[in-house]
Amino acid sequence: MKQKDIAALLDEPACAHNKKSKSGCAKPKPGATAGGCAFDGAQIALLPIADVAHIVHGSIACAGSSWDNRGTRSSGSRLFRIGMTTDLTEQDVIMGRGEKRLFHAIKQAIDNYQPAAVFVYNTCVPALVGDDVEAVCRAAEERWGTPVVPVDAAGFYGTKNLGNRIAGESMVKHVCGSREPDSLPEEAVREGIKVHDISLIGEYNIAGELWHVLPLLDELGLRVLCTLSGDARFREVQTMHRSTVNMMVCSKAMINVARKLQEAFGTPWFEGSFYGVRDVSQALRDFARVIDDEDLSQRTEALISREETRIDQLLEPWREKLRGRKVLLYTGGVKSWSVIAALQDLGMEVVATGTKKSTEEDKARIKELMGQDAVMLEEGNPRALINIVHEKNVDVLIAGGRNMYTALKARIPFLDINQEREFGYAGYQGMVELARQLVLTIESPVWPQVRTPAPWAVGASTAESTSDQEVVA
Ligand code: SF4
Repeated sequence: MKQKDIAALLDEPACAHNKKSKSGCAKPKPGATAGGCAFDGAQIALLPIADVAHIVHGSIACAGSSWDNRGTRSSGSRLFRIGMTTDLTEQDVIMGRGEKRLFHAIKQAIDNYQPAAVFVYNTCVPALVGDDVEAVCRAAEERWGTPVVPVDAAGFYGTKNLGNRIAGESMVKHVCGSREPDSLPEEAVREGIKVHDISLIGEYNIAGELWHVLPLLDELGLRVLCTLSGDARFREVQTMHRSTVNMMVCSKAMINVARKLQEAFGTPWFEGSFYGVRDVSQALRDFARVIDDEDLSQRTEALISREETRIDQLLEPWREKLRGRKVLLYTGGVKSWSVIAALQDLGMEVVATGTKKSTEEDKARIKELMGQDAVMLEEGNPRALINIVHEKNVDVLIAGGRNMYTALKARIPFLDINQEREFGYAGYQGMVELARQLVLTIESPVWPQVRTPAPWAVGASTAESTSDQEVVA
């Protein structure tokens, strides 16, 4: 990838901060890829496309340290769970065998698994050596008749966030618009209801949470042409250009996809979240608003009112247990605000939130929700997190998996909110799950047990103090 292409991706016009005089998305600082390199970002953004063979072209370390790192679920094909790599060695580099190995890897994937398509992720070593990955993909596609898509995302290009955008760029450039959607199946036709096609961008179906939302969209007559990329299929990504409206779900990661589809096909888009009762209702309203269908608006309001009443009743017993409880939220990007709304819905108090990977717009939303004096943590090293927990009497730390051991060693109740989590929190139903998990975490009998000094420690300290007294006497 050329320098100017990377610069163009970093200078995304749809990001509000790039409209200011000093523009450009955050430049990577040394060490920035410790949170994931560009390849990692590209792979996790596309890996949920379930019927594709995902080949990592590079040394084994790239695939080995990042394979299957998102708790995304598929309702059918499980091909995406098979890790594939060209496993380049020093010998391959010295002998210039990288491109040949890639060509054979693509053949092997097609022969063994008959995938809907093959995605090839370029990484640092072949990018430095100068392998022409695009040319190999083109040749393989011509030879075997299966789409082969290059994703040029070598780690040294930049951060994980840049990788997300490269992934989106590859989809827009090579996949979107290459097929027309299927006609509506007869059983989906309902008297008096006009079906609208929509797409969700940046929804990854973590722990199957998208399945909390799909029934609502179905009921409203909103057909999801494609989710980029949770539980997606290649043939769905091909049809994204026919959406009536796109929703950017809780993530600015692939904002370039939404913008480019708007530029190329005139598809309007809006940003929303499926976390928290308020935000789910708002997202449904936004679909009706942008589509501008009066009947849809009325049915949406009726559905919202029915679902909010139902969920309110289900949440009530949990709210009683959670009301007034204090939370320290340390997560990245948009989750730093979208989860705040969900927690406030439950009557909890968010004492501080992490903003390390948040944009200026994310921070503005945090202030809207938590007030102007909201405590935002730019750096969340373990000691800083533990100090805030003690200072503010925090009841639970909600963060990503890498903070789990900090919390457990400090004997602080901990809930995993990031992509590796086991439970889906999106949609109305997801709120009940979130509330349940919070109560189970906070009220777990393990906390009083581990916070009580061990009997032998109590004995030792008593003996110590007695002997101290004897010495003094
Ligand atoms: S792409 Fe580069 S930075 Fe990323 S894991 Fe591979 S070698 Fe490391």
